[in-house]
Amino acid sequence: MSRVYNFSAGPAALPAEVMRRAQAEFRDCNGTGMSAMEMSHRSKAFIAIAEQAEADLRELLVIPANYKVLFLQGGATMQFGAIPLNLLRGKNTADYFRTGAWSEKAVKEAQRFCAVNLAVDTQAGNYTDIPDASEWKFSKDAAYVHYTPNETIHGVEFHDVPEAGDIPLVADMSSNILSRPIEVSKFGVIYAGAQKNIGPAGLCVVIIRDDLLGYMPEGYPSLLDYTAHAKAGSMLNTPPTYAWYFAGLVFQWLKDEGGIAAMEARNIQKSRKLYDFIDASDFYSNPVAKHCRSRMNVPFTLAKPELDKLFVEEADKAGLKNLEGHRSVGGMRASIYNAMPEAGVDALIAFMQEFEKRHG
Ligand SMILES: *Cc1c(COP(=O)(O)O)cnc(C)c1O
Repeated sequence: MSRVYNFSAGPAALPAEVMRRAQAEFRDCNGTGMSAMEMSHRSKAFIAIAEQAEADLRELLVIPANYKVLFLQGGATMQFGAIPLNLLRGKNTADYFRTGAWSEKAVKEAQRFCAVNLAVDTQAGNYTDIPDASEWKFSKDAAYVHYTPNETIHGVEFHDVPEAGDIPLVADMSSNILSRPIEVSKFGVIYAGAQKNIGPAGLCVVIIRDDLLGYMPEGYPSLLDYTAHAKAGSMLNTPPTYAWYFAGLVFQWLKDEGGIAAMEARNIQKSRKLYDFIDASDFYSNPVAKHCRSRMNVPFTLAKPELDKLFVEEADKAGLKNLEGHRSVGGMRASIYNAMPEAGVDALIAFMQEFEKRHG
């Protein structure tokens, strides 16, 4: 099989080195004679894997000691509901930034539990820009402020952390966690489904400041209660053990590659190359305002949309996989997470040049 570059938005490509290591350890993990997927989550062998993964994630993101790290299930979507349940703390309003398809979903779910004030709303402009902070409209008594630092579908990314004062800031980092350094102390909660930049689907990481624990109201499933998960070390029930193990391998790979600062440098380089090429071309375009373009997900359209299907087909034949845009947006989208090597972006650009020559 010839070289394939997978531009899927998620589940997404994983680092080749990590895949090879997982393969080597598949049936005998750490000399136990067992696969990580065959271990009891309460066994010494698995607890060691779980603790190492948490320690490595803490090191990579420099997570302060007053934050708990939870390894949960239900994806980011379950957190859309768990966040209001755990964080409203007797209040009935939360502020949300609606800047793309994922925050739109987060808003809808939160509205089942509280009044949502849209402090920022870019829906009318098809989610292609983020207004200046002077135009944000926070409410007076919000329990928390929620935003989506990277909109995976619309390709919009915040390059600065919003200033929310004393109100806990909650971030759905599903598609840009570990792609750039962050100052964890600016956040009340960070959560991220694993299948973009952490590992396989089935795992969701939640990082929560410990003073926000203890407020879950009665009458809801305990699996939605962050406090119960924190007390049980994320082992209230059987956690997604293999995904947890695999995430640990990715964290070790990130450390070996020079950590998050090194990743950010690569991600800047990869995304800049692709945007520069698109901007220099009359055939391809990206609709997002330059100051908030995503380093992770690059949507683009063709001057002749009737060629979209052909583009995706020919790219696929050339080994460039999963370039079709999200069905809600159309066009194309290249997701270039940490695991995408710069050579993959180079191959994409070369293909785009050649396609334009033939069809432009
Ligand atoms: C993919 C994604 C989600 C949804 O994740 P699930 O694991 O399918 O629930 C939510 N938010 C963002 C930003 C995403 O990229």
